[in-house]
Amino acid sequence: MVELPKSVRIREVGPRDGFQNEPETIDTAEKVRLIDLLSATGVKRLEVTSFVRPDVIPQLADAAEVLLAAQRRPGVAFSVLIPNPRGLERALGLRDRFDEVSVFLSASETHNRRNVNRSVAESLAGLEQTLALAGEEGLRREGVIATSFGCPYEGHLPPGRVFGIAPRLIDAGRGEGGFGDTTRMANPVQVREYFPAARAALGDGVELTAHFHNTRGQGLANVYAAYEAGVRSFESSFGELGGCPVPKGATGNVATEDVVSMLHEMGAGTGVDLVKLVDAARAAQEVLGRPLGSHLLTAGPVDWRER
Ligand code: ZN
Repeated sequence: MVELPKSVRIREVGPRDGFQNEPETIDTAEKVRLIDLLSATGVKRLEVTSFVRPDVIPQLADAAEVLLAAQRRPGVAFSVLIPNPRGLERALGLRDRFDEVSVFLSASETHNRRNVNRSVAESLAGLEQTLALAGEEGLRREGVIATSFGCPYEGHLPPGRVFGIAPRLIDAGRGEGGFGDTTRMANPVQVREYFPAARAALGDGVELTAHFHNTRGQGLANVYAAYEAGVRSFESSFGELGGCPVPKGATGNVATEDVVSMLHEMGAGTGVDLVKLVDAARAAQEVLGRPLGSHLLTAGPVDWRER
């Protein structure tokens, strides 16, 4: 087996996955300030907003303004979440302001229907079209499959169902598949077995990206299990922002600063400056006016005093 590189790729999704789940809409200027702070941390991929319908997710109605105002830094790829071809059309008006698109669907029929009111097959057809259009524009594309590790309505989903859907998104998206534990059902033993099976089903050329939530405190354990299984690409959210409205009261994505801290302690590089990242999470905490959940916000990085 080929020795995998120790460097880990982090995709920060807080400005999209986090901000869209806040009960209050965050002021556009504050969003831009937080995105600029994140861009300066050394993180190389940043999901800045989503071109969903403003009446569906009013929290991200300012997608165009955010993209126009956020500072571009060399080496930092901005991505936007795109729900359908119409959303892509809106985003393409600002084509020079972003580099990547991500699309998502649920592997679970029930979850997908409740989320976007379409069957999985209908979603797939629309997303293939979206990804093809994005490809013509030279955009990097990622397909994320929510409920990859289980569904609150249908329970355990056979991994084969997810791996059956993934090639259609990945083929269309040229090689990156995101596997989301949107519904916080993954456990470390499941994760350890899941990614080698995904690798076997999807082939070596595919970037496998893991997206975990920390609803029951298993987020970091799942990151570790995925890392041990060879995953080198993770999505996470500063300040542990984000979440999914189902199940009720669910908390956020695993915190980027906690993931980065653990990886650094384990000797894996991310290129992210942890002190700057914690500062960004602290700034988000001030903007939102409530304590956020990450461990690093409380404890600070291990090398806090030396820095
Ligand atoms: Zn998430």
